[in-house]
Amino acid sequence: NMAGNKKNTGKKGTGNMDEIAKTIFAPIYPVIADNIIKRFGIAKGMCIDIGSGPASLSIAIAKKTSLDVISFDYSSDMQKKALKNIKDAGLEDRIKTACGDVHDMPFSDNYADLIISRGSMFFWDDIHTAFREIYRVLKPGGRTYIGGGFGNRELTKCVSAEMIRKNPDWEEFSRKNMSDENVQIFKDMLEEIKIPDYNIVRGDEGFWIVISKNLPGAL
Ligand code: SAM
Repeated sequence: NMAGNKKNTGKKGTGNMDEIAKTIFAPIYPVIADNIIKRFGIAKGMCIDIGSGPASLSIAIAKKTSLDVISFDYSSDMQKKALKNIKDAGLEDRIKTACGDVHDMPFSDNYADLIISRGSMFFWDDIHTAFREIYRVLKPGGRTYIGGGFGNRELTKCVSAEMIRKNPDWEEFSRKNMSDENVQIFKDMLEEIKIPDYNIVRGDEGFWIVISKNLPGAL
């Protein structure tokens, strides 16, 4: 798999994600949620958070919008942690969890207004299949924000420095994920599966794939 580097955080990115999400990464989720809301103005409907881990981004977006959220992850251990965090945030009525694989998702066609995912796609085995699935599940008029990053320049600086201090291997893992070469791999994939309307966001926000599914009849 050229698109990612699975060794870094253990079992495809579960590692000690609950602890990291609550400490070093804690400030990034509200900022990423704000970036998503500012970019799309989508504030209601159905949102799926793919590879949601402990559900930190799901919780941040649910707090700032009226979206209903599904925290979707294939790790049942992560699902347990997510359920606890969602309950602690008092958001059980707005955020549900589902266990499953991005390559074969248990959602009907045109289901989600917003599909978000942070730090997960670098672990996916077959990005062609995964993004075909994502496009199938995305509702016409909907958007995706799928990728990696820390929300803004200042957070990227602080969080990276702390992560490197904790785990020197992380620097190379992160550099590869965010590199021009990796962006090109994802661009080639999006062309190959013929996604008609996408945009790659890069910069202080991170590296994010924005897919727009057009309304029927519109070009
Ligand atoms: N999005 C969370 C965050 O930013 O805090 C968690 C990121 S964690 C590094 C990556 C997550 O992706 C893990 O929880 C892992 O179980 C999940 N994951 C990896 N491959 C997956 C797949 N094929 N389908 C569903 N989830 C997957």
